[in-house]
Order: sequence, then structure tokens, then C-alpha cells
Amino acid sequence: MAGYHCTDCLFSKIERSEKNDEFFGTCDKGYTLTNRNPHECELKNFALEPDSLFPTVDPFGKLYLGTNWVCPAFRPRNPEKGIAK
Ligand code: SF4
Repeated sequence: MAGYHCTDCLFSKIERSEKNDEFFGTCDKGYTLTNRNPHECELKNFALEPDSLFPTVDPFGKLYLGTNWVCPAFRPRNPEKGIAK
């Protein structure tokens, strides 16, 4: 799944906020998608780029520290796209 992001997943919905013109996302599998500021360890709901949103809290409310940008429930929106991004 290397190269995939939540934006490529069937279960994500990514929208652009009219308030700040940044992106936010939801996950039908119950993960919380956020943009983690690498310098402050702060979770933010919005991101300048959609691919900066990734799962950080699992469906049970626990911090999710995945080893890549997607969770194990990932299903490609477009299976024909291939692995490389
Ligand atoms: S990869 Fe996982 S967390 Fe991301 S949208 Fe898909 S199911 Fe949700």
C-alpha cells in the first residue's frame, strides 16, 4: 500500500472548507483523519493538501500510529491506478 493515501480510499470523503480554504476529511470506517504537524506533534483537522490527511485516531478513540499513510481497512477507490503514486 506504499504510496497510497486516504484520498485514494473508497471510504474517505475529502472536502474543502469555505471558511479557511483548507481540506478536511472523514472516514466511513470510523478513523479520524487529521494533519499532524511534525514540529509540534499537534493534530489538526485541516490541511493545505488533501494527501496530508491521514488516520491518527482509530474507531475506538485510541491514537493510531500506523507505519504508512493508510490503515489496514484501506480499499482503493480506483484499483486500476496501481500502487505507485
Ligand atoms: S485508509 Fe483507512 S483511515 Fe483512510 S479513509 Fe480508508 S479506511 Fe479510512
